[in-house]
Amino acid sequence: TRDMKVDVLVIGAGPSGCVASAYLHQQGLNVKVVEKTTFPRFVIGESLLPRCMDHFEEVGLLDALKAANFEIKRGARFMKDDVVCNFDFSDKHSEGWDWTWQVPRADFDTILANEVEKMGVDISFEHEVVAVEIADNGTSTTTIHDADGNPYKVEAQFIVDSSGYGRVLPRLLNLDKPSSIPEHSSIFGHVKDVNRPKGEEGTLITFDVLDKDTWFWVIPFSNGNTSLGFVGKNEFIDSFEGDTSTRLQTMFKQSDYYYERFKDAPLLFEPKSIRNYSKAVTKFYGNGFVLTGNSAEFLDPVFSSGVTFATESALRSAKLISKQLQGETVNWEEDYSNYIKSGVDVFATYVKEWYTGNLQTLFFHRPENLEVKRQICAVLAGYVWDETNPFVTKHNRIVKSLAHLINMENEKSASV
Ligand code: FAD
Repeated sequence: TRDMKVDVLVIGAGPSGCVASAYLHQQGLNVKVVEKTTFPRFVIGESLLPRCMDHFEEVGLLDALKAANFEIKRGARFMKDDVVCNFDFSDKHSEGWDWTWQVPRADFDTILANEVEKMGVDISFEHEVVAVEIADNGTSTTTIHDADGNPYKVEAQFIVDSSGYGRVLPRLLNLDKPSSIPEHSSIFGHVKDVNRPKGEEGTLITFDVLDKDTWFWVIPFSNGNTSLGFVGKNEFIDSFEGDTSTRLQTMFKQSDYYYERFKDAPLLFEPKSIRNYSKAVTKFYGNGFVLTGNSAEFLDPVFSSGVTFATESALRSAKLISKQLQGETVNWEEDYSNYIKSGVDVFATYVKEWYTGNLQTLFFHRPENLEVKRQICAVLAGYVWDETNPFVTKHNRIVKSLAHLINMENEKSASV
């Protein structure tokens, strides 16, 4: 592969890299995407949020996704013991999409990458970024190994790092910092859903809560397979012995609701595990580069915010890059970092309050407060920038204070 010069180099062809490169290409910029693997490839992150539909639509990727007939996700079900909390995206505080999909990412990401290539973007698969040098004026020289392991260099005016778990620039530029989210790990896999019940029950995405720190997901796909995953503290995950198949199957015995359905379901591959998955960085952008998606920050899977942040940050940064390369001045701190952080902060509160138990108190308290539920539902749909929603603007206090009120009420009724 020969050395080359482009306007923008995008690292990674996941949802973040695809949305960024589609937008930049449509603005007439010369974009190159490098992707370490060949597609289809497995990646976790299968439950989407309505908000990401806005992003796919804006860059012209929605129709191809619609044609794939993925399982439609209209809400989310949370269960604890006998109490069920059902969120319905059509009954939420904010305007916006009231449905999205639950998707096997290998297929989903392949469709995105194919579409982006069809638009005319150059994607090199099995090309891996191994080194980056950035000059004072922001121009970078990136060393890439092609499929045969031969190095070549790409000079770019701007780099979008959408490398997800690869965390290319955080590693190479030393930008990692510890996450403020309590440490958890996960084991997950796909099964052939041989006992899937007919009708809605068989297709519902569900979060089954075992205790404050431990829960698992059930994400049925339209291809007849279902994703199953456990999340818990490291001690919990480590307390199970054997290979990941045995561990996942043993964990599943803890689910009264789902055990029968999945006990004979064949695993489609050896389940995977990720330890301490939460990630954070010291900065989201720098001279000549920006971090998007998981390469920037990852909180927790409990509210399925990963892909939506990946596409939100991709589109936002692509717009700013395009302005900057046309000679306009861009305020990256305000218009990228602060904007993205304000959304991340809302979700971070919900994740933290999930594991303190406060949010679980709100979800499973009966009778439900329907207004509160509509406002929380808008957050869970990914509309975390809507300042008319008190569950966005007062996220720091509101979950905690409502949970406190409920706890006091419960104590009062227990003592009568
Ligand atoms: P990715 O989709 O990871 O894509 C990055 C790409 O970059 C990859 O294809 C990779 O091969 C490539 N790459 C890496 N290194 C290099 C390199 N050196 N050179 C070239 N290319 C490179 N999110 C959700 O939205 N919903 C969920 O239900 C959900 N569940 C999750 C469950 C768990 C247990 C975990 C840990 C995460 C979950 N996530 C979920 C988060 C989700 O996985 C990510 O947020 C999402 O995949 C991020 O997309 P991305 O485009 O940033 O990165």
